[in-house]
Amino acid sequence: YDGKKAGRNQLRFFSSSMISHAREAVIDTALRSAISSDELYLLYQPVANAKTGRIDKVEALLRWNSRTLNNVSPDHFIPIAEESGIIVEIGTWVLNQACRQLAEWQTSGVHLTMSVNVSASQLLDTRFITYVERALQINQLNPAQLELELTERVLIDDGAHVRTTLNHLRAMGVRLSLDDFGTGYSSLSYLTQFHLNTLKIDRSFVMALESSARHQSLVSTIIAMGHNLDLELVAEGVETEQQISMLQKMGCHYLQGYYISRPIAAENIPLICSSPVKIH
Ligand code: C2E
Ligand code: MG
Ligand code: MG
Ligand code: MG
Repeated sequence: YDGKKAGRNQLRFFSSSMISHAREAVIDTALRSAISSDELYLLYQPVANAKTGRIDKVEALLRWNSRTLNNVSPDHFIPIAEESGIIVEIGTWVLNQACRQLAEWQTSGVHLTMSVNVSASQLLDTRFITYVERALQINQLNPAQLELELTERVLIDDGAHVRTTLNHLRAMGVRLSLDDFGTGYSSLSYLTQFHLNTLKIDRSFVMALESSARHQSLVSTIIAMGHNLDLELVAEGVETEQQISMLQKMGCHYLQGYYISRPIAAENIPLICSSPVKIH
C-alpha cells in the first residue's frame, strides 16, 4: 500500500503549489521552535590537504532532528528558513556553536580552520559583523581560523552593504570562501571585486571528472585560474581514488567528500585529525 500515492490522489483538488505552500508553512512553524527545543545540531565534514592528507579544516553542516517532522534535509529547510527570515537566528546559532566547538578542539590540541555556511540574509543584517566579532572574542579565536562560505547568490545582489560587510570581515582577518563554484552565474568579476580566499569547486564538476574530458579541462582551468589569483582551491564531493589523483595532478589544494569522510559528530573529529588520511 502506497500511502503517499493514495494521499496524493485524494488531494487532487489542491494544486501542487497549494500543497507545497502548506508544507512550507508547517516546516516554517516547526523551525521557529527548533532552536529553543534543541532540535538543531551540527555535523563537521573534514577537509583534507591534498598533499599531506592531513585534516586542516572542517565544514560545519547543519542538521535538524524535528520532533514532529523527523530529520529534514538542509537542502529542504534552509531555503524555507531563508524565505521566512528565520535563517538569521539559525545562522547565528550555527556561528556560535561552530566557534565554541572550534575553541574546545583547540584547547585539546586539535588545530583547525572552521568553515561556516552563510546565507544572503545574514549578510544583509546590519548586526552580522557584531555577531562574528562576538563569537570570535568569546571563544578567543584568531579570525583567520574562521572561514565564511558564501554562494554566488550572495554576491550577485552586490549591494553596497554586502560589499562593505565583506570588506570589513576581511579587514578583521576572517576568511571568505565561494561555495559551489561553477553552478551559479560564475561571473569572473566576483573574483576581482571581492577579496576571496577560497574557491570550492562544485561537486557536480568533480562527479563528471572521470567520464568527461570537457569537465577535466574545465576543472583544471578553474584550478589554474585559482592559482594565478592566489586562491585556495577545495574540491567538493570527492568520492573516488581516481578523482583524487586527477585533482592532485591538477594542483587542487584541498579535498572534501565522502572518500575523505562523511560529515561526522564533533567527538569523532580529534581521531580523524590525529593521523593523515590515505590519499596516495
Ligand atoms: P554545501 O555547503 O555545498 O555543503 C556540501 C554538501 O554536500 C553537504 O550536504 C555534504 O553533506 C554534501 N557532501 C559532501 N561530500 C559529499 C560527497 O562526497 N558526495 C555527496 N553526494 N555529497 C557530499 P548537506 O549537509 O546536506 O548540506 C546541503 C547544503 O545546505 C549545503 O551545501 C549548504 O548550502 C546548506 N547548509 C548546510 N548547513 C548550513 C548552514 O549552517 N547554514 C546555511 N546557510 N546553509 C547550510
Ligand atoms: Mg558549504
Ligand atoms: Mg558547497
Ligand atoms: Mg555544493
